[in-house]
Amino acid sequence: MTISNKKPFIAGNWKMYKTIPEAIEMVRALKESSPEVTGAELVVIPPFTALKDISKVIEGSSVQLGAQNMSWEEKGAFTGEISAPMLKDAGCRFVVIGHSERRQYFGETNETVNKKIKAALAHDLIPIMCLGESLEEREKEKTIEKVGSQINAGLEGMGQEEMSRIIIAYEPIWAIGTGVTATPAQAEEVHAFIRERLAEIHGNKTASCAIILYGGSVKPANTYELLIEKNINGALVGGASLEADSFIQIAKEAIRAYKEKT
Ligand code: PEP
Repeated sequence: MTISNKKPFIAGNWKMYKTIPEAIEMVRALKESSPEVTGAELVVIPPFTALKDISKVIEGSSVQLGAQNMSWEEKGAFTGEISAPMLKDAGCRFVVIGHSERRQYFGETNETVNKKIKAALAHDLIPIMCLGESLEEREKEKTIEKVGSQINAGLEGMGQEEMSRIIIAYEPIWAIGTGVTATPAQAEEVHAFIRERLAEIHGNKTASCAIILYGGSVKPANTYELLIEKNINGALVGGASLEADSFIQIAKEAIRAYKEKT
């Protein structure tokens, strides 16, 4: 199962929001509007509890499903954990790995990220690997160093075939949930660096096909200016993905930008 950056990739991370009825209501609305945005890959990433119900609602539509986290273990005595086969069973195609909130509050490291990516790939899930710098690191001009080390450690042991099934999301921590977005130039600089680093390690073809998302206070009003940048292939959206209208609007803006730049 490979992926392609020919269409913009728009994923909505719902974090710890929505009960099952709320999730179903939102996804029904999304499904209704989804024929308007077939020019984008549209993915919803709800809490675990809503996955199975949502997978039934989106059947027959272009809306796809992802999870917010998983264990690197396949099964066993690991109370509170959810495994890759369980996510597949619930209808997921994607899984977010190493979101900054998981790194910040739940002790995730580059090493656990690496183990989770390997486990996701082994079970035919597409990992969306998150990385990005803190405000302090940006102010100390350590952004590239931080992102470079996260790529090196998080993707250690991956070959070209694995890389063709991994999505990278650059999410500056200072822009997540703050309303402060990276400027298109700031985002593009890091995206270009990520693509160059992938080219150094895996060659130009792998790098040019890679899907590199931007995340951090993406909204309908700033999607076009971000997505028009050469190396930005889509968005990982938090707050603005919780309402069907704004999420669809983001997908439309992404399609508009993609049409213009390709
Ligand atoms: C996120 O949760 O990955 C995110 C980018 O959140 P927000 O869009 O709310 O900043």
